[in-house]
Amino acid sequence: MYSNYDLHTHSIASDGSLTPAELVARAAAAGVEVLALTDHDTLSGVAEARRAAGPLPIQIVAGVEISVSWQGRTVHLVGLGVEPDDHALRQGLAGLLEFREWRAQEIGRRLRRDSGISDAFAGAARYARGDLVGRTHFALFLVEIGRARDLRSVFKQFLVSGKPGHVAGDWASLEQALGWIRGAGGQGVLAHPARYSLTRSKRHRLIGEFKELGGVALEVVSGSHNLDDCLNMAHDARSFGLLASAGSDYHGPESPWLELGRLPSLPLQCQPIWRDWPLAAAA
Ligand code: AMP
Ligand code: MN
Ligand code: MN
Ligand code: MN
Repeated sequence: MYSNYDLHTHSIASDGSLTPAELVARAAAAGVEVLALTDHDTLSGVAEARRAAGPLPIQIVAGVEISVSWQGRTVHLVGLGVEPDDHALRQGLAGLLEFREWRAQEIGRRLRRDSGISDAFAGAARYARGDLVGRTHFALFLVEIGRARDLRSVFKQFLVSGKPGHVAGDWASLEQALGWIRGAGGQGVLAHPARYSLTRSKRHRLIGEFKELGGVALEVVSGSHNLDDCLNMAHDARSFGLLASAGSDYHGPESPWLELGRLPSLPLQCQPIWRDWPLAAAA
């Protein structure tokens, strides 16, 4: 049986800083046995991750973190075990990537107009290294030119609602995202549910709709959850009859709030999402 799972990580295919091969090598060296690559709205790193894992003692789960608009805010769904060539999933993600392209240019225009920052789009694109340009890449550029101290302050000053570089999300609906994930043979996980600053009752409404539409697990252990969040999400998973997932949300060695291979175990009352995975039998 495998015991070291990390089911939420990023590479340069979205806003992580390692290549998929570097991520896989680092995860394997840190003792991760089962790794899901879950880049934002793209599967483009999965093939490289699989190739890199070939000779290493690590299994790769094909995954994606889909951006969803729900009741005027953005929430994230992780899809695990998806078929990367599934047509409808690819089409759906292509639509989100198109919105991302427009949004990145619009963020650049707004930063120029309202904050006098020229060339933010080009600067962000440099950090994105040819792949999708996300808010993290703008944040890296703004830190580079000295407009803020660190990534957190850039988000706070420029990139969140009410700030000059904010552009409202126009992502998938919960129903679309779960439809794509399930249609591609995958399992839908509600990512870092404690991070959305929702009231308890609103969070429960989100979890209820998620379950109704075929979602199967809550991310209970997450790099963005503290111990209280983790215990609360374990409680929610149990009361909604959902499985539990665990992922670091790793973005690279320079964001070291949670290193690979160091995830705490799921609380005992949880049913792990990997409970019935065939790969466990192979170990
Ligand atoms: P995007 O999907 O392009 O809108 O960017 C969302 C990503 O930005 C998240 O997945 C995080 O990687 C990053 N992010 C969001 N908020 C913050 C923050 N306060 N500090 C640092 N990174 C953040
Ligand atoms: Mn990210
Ligand atoms: Mn996320
Ligand atoms: Mn993530």
